[in-house]
Amino acid sequence: MAIIDLRSDTVTRPTRAMREAMLDAPVGDDVYGEDPTVNALQERLAADLGFQAGLFVPSGTQSNLLGLMAHCERGDEYLVGADAHTYKFEGGGAAVLGSIQPQPIAHQPDGSLAITDLEAAVKPVDPHFARTRLLALENTWHGRALPRPYVREAQDFARRHGLGVHLDGARLFNAATAYGVTAREVADGFDSVSVCFSKGLGAPVGSVLLGSTAFIDRARRWRKVAGGGWRQAGMLAAACLHALDHHVARLADDHARAARLAEGLRGLEGMTVDAQHTNMVFVRVPVERLQALDAHLRAAEVRVSIGYLPTVRLVTHLDIDDDSVERSIAAFAGFFGRN
Ligand SMILES: *Cc1c(COP(=O)(O)O)cnc(C)c1O
Repeated sequence: MAIIDLRSDTVTRPTRAMREAMLDAPVGDDVYGEDPTVNALQERLAADLGFQAGLFVPSGTQSNLLGLMAHCERGDEYLVGADAHTYKFEGGGAAVLGSIQPQPIAHQPDGSLAITDLEAAVKPVDPHFARTRLLALENTWHGRALPRPYVREAQDFARRHGLGVHLDGARLFNAATAYGVTAREVADGFDSVSVCFSKGLGAPVGSVLLGSTAFIDRARRWRKVAGGGWRQAGMLAAACLHALDHHVARLADDHARAARLAEGLRGLEGMTVDAQHTNMVFVRVPVERLQALDAHLRAAEVRVSIGYLPTVRLVTHLDIDDDSVERSIAAFAGFFGRN
């Protein structure tokens, strides 16, 4: 029996069809801008999501970093959620490598950053202060698709203050699936967007940063500085193109399976399902039982994410089928017992 790995949607392995697409990809030297498959991916995503240009990069962390560095200069500041990836989970890269100061803002329960909090955080133009230049949002955030009217309000706030707006859309296609709209609609109104292919889309590597031509030119320079200039990356871009063709529509299956998983777990005693959004389920377990639960699940060949979040996270993805969901519920039931 294969291990059921619910820790993250990053754990997927490329399908045979994806590997075959990689094998056949035409390639060239991307530092020279000559990899036809990389160019095709960048152009296709830019056209689909409504931007002038795109830049293929190894990771979402690098994509966000280059985005922040293309928006902000040394001594500038970006407003960002205190629990956002671009603040908390990227090693402080914007500060370390960009000399850009983050201004973290507490999230509301729905993931939004209150407009009043954002207004209060914008610094006056005065040498005492960093220059507030950018608002960075994340959608989905902890699996939640941000309320759509809120996204508009946040963009309007940024415009009123002359700030750029960046979207960490690592799971933008999950957000689109949850809203039932196109990916382009989710990206609408942002100056830049970062999209990941190594999450629910199931590619081994790769993110694309999108923006205006001038913005992407600046980001390309920073990519080179960061050591991210790559050569025959078309083999990797081919996996991403394959994912766009074959792994977007099926995200709805991941969401349905997460809903089924949450439903199954709600029937158990001694634990609580805190939330289920898109492809993620969060459950609360008494702290003193966490290690025993982890050991029990491991023995049942089920892996969950225990550790850096206050709750246990379970994520559905390409390698989780209906049977995996039922087996996972059974493994939890074997530990907690049914109500
Ligand atoms: C995964 C993720 C990223 C990028 O992560 P990498 O591991 O660097 O590709 C960025 N933002 C969010 C919200 C993510 O979940």
